[in-house]
Amino acid sequence: MASDSQKTRDLDDMQKLVSLAKRRGFVFQSSEIYGGINACWDYGPLGIELKLNIKQAWWNSMTRRPDIEGLDAAILMHPLVWKASGHVDGFTDPLVDCKKCKNRFRADQIDTSKGCPSCKGELTEPRNFNLMFKTFMGPVEEDAAVVYLRPETAQGIYVNFLNVHTAARKKVPFGIAQIGKAFRNEITPGNFIFRTREFEQMEMQYFVKPGSDDEWMASWKERRLQWYLDHGFRRENLQFHQHGKGELAHYAKAAFDIQYKFPFGWQELEGIHNRTDFDLGRHQEFAKKSLEYFDEHTKEKFLPYIIETSAGCDRSLLACLCDAYREEGEGDDLRVVLKFHPKLAPVKVAFLPLSKKEELTGPTQRLQQEFVEDMVTQYDETASIGKRYRRQDEIGTPLCVTFDFDSLNDKKVTVRHRDTMAQDRVDLTQLKDYVRQKLKNFSN
Ligand code: ATP
Repeated sequence: MASDSQKTRDLDDMQKLVSLAKRRGFVFQSSEIYGGINACWDYGPLGIELKLNIKQAWWNSMTRRPDIEGLDAAILMHPLVWKASGHVDGFTDPLVDCKKCKNRFRADQIDTSKGCPSCKGELTEPRNFNLMFKTFMGPVEEDAAVVYLRPETAQGIYVNFLNVHTAARKKVPFGIAQIGKAFRNEITPGNFIFRTREFEQMEMQYFVKPGSDDEWMASWKERRLQWYLDHGFRRENLQFHQHGKGELAHYAKAAFDIQYKFPFGWQELEGIHNRTDFDLGRHQEFAKKSLEYFDEHTKEKFLPYIIETSAGCDRSLLACLCDAYREEGEGDDLRVVLKFHPKLAPVKVAFLPLSKKEELTGPTQRLQQEFVEDMVTQYDETASIGKRYRRQDEIGTPLCVTFDFDSLNDKKVTVRHRDTMAQDRVDLTQLKDYVRQKLKNFSN
């Protein structure tokens, strides 16, 4: 039986992940040499690979269907867009200040009757604080030139509904998918990259005939949960949270969050909303242009309802790191391993010569060259082989290929598996197929 020290442990402390992320080049604090800037983060060499893999997996799952098209709209939009969407008047959080320590809080996230959570001081009355970042377009800083950094990517999709429908000759039901930056001047950002002021969203808006919306809502809810499961997230760490009457946005008919069990509690990963015809209705009104859809088959005209799936890319990445993180053993035997799904793993294979001797390093590097066009690889010749395996475990590399002295004669290499630590001896002529198979037929 495994002793306690050999048991696998999940992530229990965010600080461990923050320090691993920095040390190994996943996430750095923005402008760190200047002391950093609050709630902004930079993705390092491994972080960008992981992020690209998440985005690509999401993009493929959406756009490799005949009924969904892609879009990349501008971040800056006509200011009336945000009037129509309700953001200028209503995209606010209730802000309270502590009169004593001057800290700021979101009134809906604390118990205001108990006073300031930091020092118990008296709090101000809540006031509405708009979360949109304002800037000026053109060289004149005047009210007429005010534009906003988009607080969500969705509006870029709504205003292009007709363009996409016409250009791509799409019939309702169809969807538009977009990945892009969004900006919110959050009152209380935090928990590493969970809530930041600049972040990326992966949003898909699905336009349906009114009356079929409940069915599509149910279908998208299941599909989106399945997407996380297909990419290695553990089922026990995911749940749906249905918005109650008080939580539901005024325009929404129904809303579910997919929540993830972070070390700091269950929190939203993605929102799936039935937004009705509110958005197209409002843009139609403000732009004074009909956005109605004409169904050639039934000769009906209607404003489609919208089912939205809105996921945070950075939040998915954080959940992916948390979910993958495992510790085994103690002290000198501690093994930290990121058990990423191979599709998401930033590095797929590491090539390791058993020693630094040239007779091994040359062939190992040549072997690596055979893979670089197909996948992200690493080469490492420093430190003992055991240490190098641990390094690769810590960044979640599924396979390590070790070239040793025997390889020179038997033309075989050792392939070591991240999760089981099992080792196979594989013929060099079979290696490519073997690696492809192992990465494809992964299960954990
Ligand atoms: P909250 O109520 O927690 O502020 P929200 O319900 O307003 O969030 P949505 O507008 O539904 O969030 O945004 C969709 C998705 O975008 C969220 O599920 C989340 O993954 C991501 N997201 C929203 N705000 C942020 C942020 N400040 N930082 C990182 N990701 C965010």
